[in-house]
Amino acid sequence: MSHIFPRHCKSAPPVATRGDGIYLIDSEGKRYLDGSGGAAVSCLGHSDPDVAQAMHDQIDRLSFAHTGFLTSEPAESLADRLIAHAPEGIERVYLVSGGSEAVEAALKLARQYMIEIGQTQRTRFIARKQSYHGNTLGALGTGGNMWRREPFDPLMMSASHIDPCYEYRLRQEGETEEEYGLRAANALEDEILRVGPESVIGFLAEPVVGATSGAVPAVKGYFKRIREICDQYGVLLILDEVMCGMGRTGTLFACEQDEISPDIITIAKGLGAGYQPIGAMLCAGAIYEAIAQGSGFFQHGHTYIGHPVASAAADAVVRKLTEGGMVARAAKMGERLNDALHAEFGQHPHIGDIRGRGMFRGLEIVADRDSKAPFDPSRGIAGRLKKQAFENGLICYPMSGTIDGQTGDHVLLAPPFIISDDQIDELVGKLSMSL
Ligand code: PMP
Repeated sequence: MSHIFPRHCKSAPPVATRGDGIYLIDSEGKRYLDGSGGAAVSCLGHSDPDVAQAMHDQIDRLSFAHTGFLTSEPAESLADRLIAHAPEGIERVYLVSGGSEAVEAALKLARQYMIEIGQTQRTRFIARKQSYHGNTLGALGTGGNMWRREPFDPLMMSASHIDPCYEYRLRQEGETEEEYGLRAANALEDEILRVGPESVIGFLAEPVVGATSGAVPAVKGYFKRIREICDQYGVLLILDEVMCGMGRTGTLFACEQDEISPDIITIAKGLGAGYQPIGAMLCAGAIYEAIAQGSGFFQHGHTYIGHPVASAAADAVVRKLTEGGMVARAAKMGERLNDALHAEFGQHPHIGDIRGRGMFRGLEIVADRDSKAPFDPSRGIAGRLKKQAFENGLICYPMSGTIDGQTGDHVLLAPPFIISDDQIDELVGKLSMSL
């Protein structure tokens, strides 16, 4: 009997024994094409020799140094590399061990910043409906994914949630894309005014919504208006790029394509590319300065932050993404994947929408393509697709609850950037067969 506590407690999953490029191999020798990169994690595939070498070299030199006393060479190098490519104004990197930790750090930093600048009455966050920002209590409590929150609701802080920018369903007839973007963004201003601008710390959102909606980018102009609103009311703009960051959408930071700079950015998944658990919270120089010149101490921290081996792995990953041309490859192969999806599913009776950017693509699964009517939730479409694809040797990321947490299904694709033309065809073929 296995003593592992699996996520889905009713069935024991197969045992993965080896990774080979974009494939995973289990103990029975079955090969799975990793069409979602785990969950948008494995951007470089499963057996990158450069990352392995960097980790190996670092273990030989130094495996751990507590950041309460010392920083380390790979952590410094990683921070320099991230800042060299970060949006304007972002100047500091706080390393953590994963996505939820990055979001927790962002929330606490934002609150502490408000205290440092004398705005102690600011105690609330605004996020978007359906959003997922992590499973720790702070991140879960800020996100708008109701079924995940529900059992823990009494333990959580209160955040409010506005409609997401979800063109496929929320853009009205006769409305241009730009008009819709403005209307969707203005919901933030309405909410700030409703709860009182003096009470709001920050607005938290994913530039391209990943797991809960299936690679949904905001329409043009949305985030520019969001930035204006945040500036007007002294609200911090926190972008969660845990899933969509690190080249996934074809630029190192997803928000580059929205042409804005946030105050805080969270990254994780693709940063360690699956080689090490690592995440980071990046912030504007002004936020750091307020703390440095104020109390001088960020009231946060975990034992493993800035871990040297994790930092060395991530430093090698970011070097490959930037200098090694992997971000450019994500953009190029992402277009190829998009073309292949349109060719296969463009007229499919049960695919309502094909969307995304770069190597981050989503398909909306509907009962009827013309009316966009979703399947009845009792059909369990997403769960069945996941199971069928897995049987067919494809790991993809179907989810239900796209529309209101209960209704609607989609599948998210986020393969490693090293995927070849032939492998894209294999992925799309396996998905089609499974659907
Ligand atoms: N934010 C987003 C947008 C995510 O997609 C996730 C994970 N799916 C998280 C935060 C939490 O990251 P982790 O699972 O590494 O804690």
